[in-house]
Amino acid sequence: MRPLSLLPEYDAMFRGALDRLHQERRYRVFADLERQAGRYPYAIWHSGEGKREVVIWCSNDYLGMSQHPKVMGAMIDAVSRMGTGAGGTRNIAGTNHPLVALEQELADLHGKEAALVFTSGYVSNEAGISTIAKLLPGCLLLSDALNHNSMIEGVRKAGAEKQIWQHNDPEHLERLLRAADPERPKLIVCESLYSMDGDIAPLHRICDLAERYGALTYVDEVHAVGMYGPRGGGIAERDGVMERIDIVEGTLAKAYGCLGGYLAAGTNLIDAVRSYAPGFIFTTALPPPVCAAATAAIRHLKASTAERVRHQDRAARLKSVLTAADLPVMPSESHIVPVHVGDPEKCRAASDLLMSEHGIYIQPINYPTVPRGMERLRLTPTPYHDDALMDQLVHAMMKVWDKLHLCYRRESGFTRGHEAP
Ligand code: PLP
Repeated sequence: MRPLSLLPEYDAMFRGALDRLHQERRYRVFADLERQAGRYPYAIWHSGEGKREVVIWCSNDYLGMSQHPKVMGAMIDAVSRMGTGAGGTRNIAGTNHPLVALEQELADLHGKEAALVFTSGYVSNEAGISTIAKLLPGCLLLSDALNHNSMIEGVRKAGAEKQIWQHNDPEHLERLLRAADPERPKLIVCESLYSMDGDIAPLHRICDLAERYGALTYVDEVHAVGMYGPRGGGIAERDGVMERIDIVEGTLAKAYGCLGGYLAAGTNLIDAVRSYAPGFIFTTALPPPVCAAATAAIRHLKASTAERVRHQDRAARLKSVLTAADLPVMPSESHIVPVHVGDPEKCRAASDLLMSEHGIYIQPINYPTVPRGMERLRLTPTPYHDDALMDQLVHAMMKVWDKLHLCYRRESGFTRGHEAP
């Protein structure tokens, strides 16, 4: 019988791969956290030394919807009526009714004819971009330089020619479009809100160019849906360009507090992706309770603006208290509040000290997620982070900054001040 562990020569290869990550200072450690329903943003941290209550400051559950009574209620109700799993791929098991309702809700949210739900935002980008491009013979993909890995993988998998345009630079995009064969199908791929810097794409200008040069637009609204626009339709809704975007991609896992990703677009495009995308066809559908909960979250945020107003207020206050304390807040146009550290080990050390000495959880963001030298703490205040929590955070960060001799704002070069969210 084979021993349970790998053969030593194979094991050595995995060890070697891990050693490389350690040497490059890129090895990731995940905190063991237990979220507390009804007590957002508090969680229990399970560390080697036991359990401790901490405050989460970096969650993408941006509005705390994962703990909203309507969302939890919808999930519990669906579990009791339908059980947990979906029972298979949609081809085999059919579509559970809550998923039909969810797709209708999403199509309506984005003012599109149809929507298609995937098991995650990652899969929706990878499967969506690659399938759409493959169905357009000779397609040229024009991708923003800072697009998320899931979009990069979608572009790569498409196997089509790609050109990368400089981040949020419509002039560069136009140069590429102008040089391209006018007869050729073109797909412009970008995000609406970039989650590491909190900057926002010039969607109006991108749509103008798409119309002028006959290109399709594919916009990832993962970090904006639920949070921007009068009904939470994202930056495209806020900026009044929703009907000019051909394909909207989003997630149910961030502002909507659940799991899953989706595309919203015209009927034929959605039907074609449904029929051709392996990442959609050959995997089990989302569980009905998750679909029911996501639908409840979307419906609530379509009607209620209180969460969005409070969210923006919290982001503005956090930027202003950090700036007043001379902490190096990087410029951001949105609810994302990055604080510059500029060194991977110091970034990890700052995160560790905040957690162990102050009960504050902020994951360090290091290369390759951001360029080397741009390592940071990325804060995401939610409607539940009150003034007292913010004051406690600033006090703790200053202690950590002093202890590690980190640069304050004036020394760091980030003196432009924050822009209003
Ligand atoms: N698109 C962007 C821009 C993201 O930042 C992420 C994840 O953070 C995704 C897509 C993937 O979404 P999901 O977490 O639903 O897989």
